[in-house]
Amino acid sequence: MNDEICICWLRRDLRLEDHAALHAALKSGYPVLLLFIFDKAILDPLPKADRRLVFIHRNVVKLKAGLEQLGSSMLIKYGLPEDVFMDLLATYQVKAVYTNHDYEPYAKERDQKIAAVLHKKNIPFITLKDQVIFEKAEVLKPDGKPYTVFTPYSKQWKIKLNDFYIKAYPTEKYFDNLYSCKPYPVISLQDMGFEDLDIKFPDVNFAEKLASYELRRDYPAEDATSYIGLHLRFGTISIREAARTALANAAEKWLSELIWRDFYMMILDHFPQVQHHAFKPAYERIQWRNNEKEFEAWCQGRTGYPIVDAGMQQLNQTGFMHNRVRMVVASFLTKHLLIDWRWGEAYFAEKLLDYELASNVGGWQWACGSGNDAAPFFRVFNPELQAKKFDPDNQYIYKWAPQYKQEKHDPPIVDHAFARDRMLRVYKAALNDGPV
Ligand code: FAD
Repeated sequence: MNDEICICWLRRDLRLEDHAALHAALKSGYPVLLLFIFDKAILDPLPKADRRLVFIHRNVVKLKAGLEQLGSSMLIKYGLPEDVFMDLLATYQVKAVYTNHDYEPYAKERDQKIAAVLHKKNIPFITLKDQVIFEKAEVLKPDGKPYTVFTPYSKQWKIKLNDFYIKAYPTEKYFDNLYSCKPYPVISLQDMGFEDLDIKFPDVNFAEKLASYELRRDYPAEDATSYIGLHLRFGTISIREAARTALANAAEKWLSELIWRDFYMMILDHFPQVQHHAFKPAYERIQWRNNEKEFEAWCQGRTGYPIVDAGMQQLNQTGFMHNRVRMVVASFLTKHLLIDWRWGEAYFAEKLLDYELASNVGGWQWACGSGNDAAPFFRVFNPELQAKKFDPDNQYIYKWAPQYKQEKHDPPIVDHAFARDRMLRVYKAALNDGPV
């Protein structure tokens, strides 16, 4: 078993097509062995029934089967990445390791450790851009600093875009260079102490949604958005394919949502402190009420505000929530209830199938006012008006919170006008203390 190989380490890029690291590895001249690690450091704190883990597991097993049809396989490991690599280096003559960039703080630290382990053995650790169209230093202001406001960033992003950045990596041309081996064992979810769940995940035919997206995307009762978030999160669809499809369908609005995704990833990469702290420091002074009972009512969808409760039910039952409703429930938590955005962010992180650190933190900080380009703090969503405008027939509300079909249901947890005044007082007190 002392073959010379190079390793392509998959993480949030679970596909064989249009894959930057795999393409580079296949052209390296060494047979390529694919590796996936179920990272104990990430898995240990998760609940034992986790929808996303089921999604990852299914896709890893599917990839492995596909590789076996090609005469290769996939090495699936469960452990700490450093330990896994130490073992691999003892088993194979590893000539290089290829992987795609990951911009989350934990991932950056993990990759540095692995690079150091490999460096000691003179093994190159080659990392490539794959999960965004433009990363950290590619779209900058004329003075070389990062954009912190979306509109000029987006303008520059579009100016820079050309075919080069969205062309597919033709991995399939080089599949002969995969490492030939017998099938490796599978690790089951149960082996790792997790439940397998019977879930149907959103499919991937997003292209058909694009024609009517701009017109219908804000109405949560309609099946009008692409549900591509989960696939972009774990790389089962390439971002370049998504962008190509947007351009081919002249889907400007949808493309602009993909640009928001790049924007928030770029922000997290440049300003990793936003994971835990307000982008605008003055917002750190807000005196949150953090009432635990009210937080619990919000989590359970029992606030007495129909659109908020319906949204939380959709999230709890399916792992998805419509974007318009995400904005409403996030604003409600941080402004009506004055509960710290970090509590809401953590709850979404636990429940959302498409949970993505950069976009989640970005969305929460946007809603509470502390983020880049955030709504001004004094603009407070009125949940009833939002429902009237975007769910005029109560279709969405009745689907997820059917108690509102009856006269009897929870009374509003707080009066809207009262909550608005209270929030304005608290925010002003914090923000008048110094520059926002
Ligand atoms: P579509 O509307 O079809 O959009 C296509 C893709 O564009 C999305 O999948 C996503 O990758 C990207 N996108 C769309 N809107 C945004 C946005 N505002 N910011 C960044 N990217 C965007 N998105 C996540 O992917 N993960 C999160 O954890 C997340 N948390 C959020 C939290 C809050 C409080 C808010 C207000 C928004 C959050 N979003 C998040 C953004 C947005 O709600 C989801 O991307 C979208 O609802 C996913 O559904 P879809 O795939 O059908 O999106």
